[in-house]
Amino acid sequence: MIDDPMINALTVDVEDYFQVSAFERYISRADWDKLPCRVENNTDRILTLLDNYNVKATFFMLGWVAKRHPHLINRIVEGGHELACHGYSHVRATLQTQQQFRNDVSRAKNLIEDIGCVKLRGYRAASYSIGSTNLWAHEVLDELGFDYSSSIYPIKHDIYGMPEAPRFSFKPKNTLHLLEIPITTVIIGRRRYPCGGGGFFRLFPYCFSHWAINKVNKVDKQACVFYFHPWEIDPCQPKQMDIDFKTRVRHYLNLSCMEARLVRLLGDFRWDTMEAIFLSD
Ligand SMILES: [Zn+2]
Repeated sequence: MIDDPMINALTVDVEDYFQVSAFERYISRADWDKLPCRVENNTDRILTLLDNYNVKATFFMLGWVAKRHPHLINRIVEGGHELACHGYSHVRATLQTQQQFRNDVSRAKNLIEDIGCVKLRGYRAASYSIGSTNLWAHEVLDELGFDYSSSIYPIKHDIYGMPEAPRFSFKPKNTLHLLEIPITTVIIGRRRYPCGGGGFFRLFPYCFSHWAINKVNKVDKQACVFYFHPWEIDPCQPKQMDIDFKTRVRHYLNLSCMEARLVRLLGDFRWDTMEAIFLSD
């Protein structure tokens, strides 16, 4: 049932289950190539799901994945979706120097643009790692020719977040034209709560996300930015043993419910790409 005329942005961060920041301490990057890849198959399932609902989405592609699965990029572009950049090696921007950040982003951008034969307009940092300590990253993205970044989660969180950032699209002071389009939050009382996807979407009951997206659309009169990952619809992925309790809960909680929740989300709201919603030209 379509119950709101506003169109929201659906985004997918295309990375594999072993590349999430929460596993950094447990899985060495040097071992990534030895692990069974599931990202291509999971992303294909997402493409089929989106086709069934005639929804276009933005795919923030990791360069590491693009290099190993180039045909996946072709299928995303052929499906009419927006291709965007998630950096090359999924290192948080807060752990990089300005030069390392620039090198990582431009390596991914060049590679993905070459394979996809499209210009990338959007970038998303690994684990929403642009915040108050590294706002120079916006300037770098501006210089590299991006039109928008969706790299700030304007909440308080132990791994990421910039609670003082604007909740909705804004032009950072140090950029010429780049926009920052934060992940969506909802105000309850005086506090901001996350409602833009990821682990929060799996943690809270679906009705909370439905209510929150509706509230942002109707009360704030703003489009939402929602994200998820291919590994979130894959409850059969290899389990990482010997990880701490919080990491285990965050990664594995309700994976088996995720696809059904996504189906409800696709049916209950209208969706499109970041480019279509936020870039008017
Ligand atoms: Zn990521």
